[in-house]
Amino acid sequence: MAIPKLITRAGKRYTPDFDAALLGAEKEAGGTWRRTQGGWNAGGVAASGGTHDQDAVDYSVAGKTKAQVAALITALRKRGLFASLRTASKALWGVRAQGFASPHIHVVGNLWGHQSSGAEYQAREYRAGRDGLNGKGPDKGGPGHTRDYTSVTWPGYLAAKKASKSAVKYRVATRLLPLNGRSGPGASYRKVTSAKRGAVLTIVSTKSGWAKDTKGRWWRMAYLKKA
Ligand SMILES: [Zn+2]
Repeated sequence: MAIPKLITRAGKRYTPDFDAALLGAEKEAGGTWRRTQGGWNAGGVAASGGTHDQDAVDYSVAGKTKAQVAALITALRKRGLFASLRTASKALWGVRAQGFASPHIHVVGNLWGHQSSGAEYQAREYRAGRDGLNGKGPDKGGPGHTRDYTSVTWPGYLAAKKASKSAVKYRVATRLLPLNGRSGPGASYRKVTSAKRGAVLTIVSTKSGWAKDTKGRWWRMAYLKKA
């Protein structure tokens, strides 16, 4: 993959997508966050086994509460980044002692964009439910270490955001029976769920008289009314 033109923020270089994902997460978490290491830094951080050679960043957690750290990790993960609390010589907020120089949040892309092979290894471990360290510890026990977002990428996050912007709410308007939700736009597709009269569905696209909701289920439009 061709490397895009890097941008510079506060003296550090990043690909534009990686920086945009970080900025969005920082804004959602609120407060001021200090990026202490990274982003694009070929050969510059030998101690990190090359994970910081390309798109990667560390955030200082000095002065932050457990809740604030959890908020940032969650906001980063939602945007397709693998973010994990790294601890020093003592366990912190439920995460075992890992021996880093100081506690921080380590961030790499979740297998999208431009990352070093070390960072890619960490993202694969994350997808498998592990913490990305050599000890192959579980990805759990720390603030914000929810596993809900392991398959999310930044392009996927943006696409979902765009789809939800153009979504329209409809109400199920059958007379008595629930309405079937199907796996595709037609009555011959498999029934995957049903919705009772009055239920509200969020529709993102339509095709030949059928409407697709945010979960990818299809509903016959003749039985839907704009909510
Ligand atoms: Zn790091």
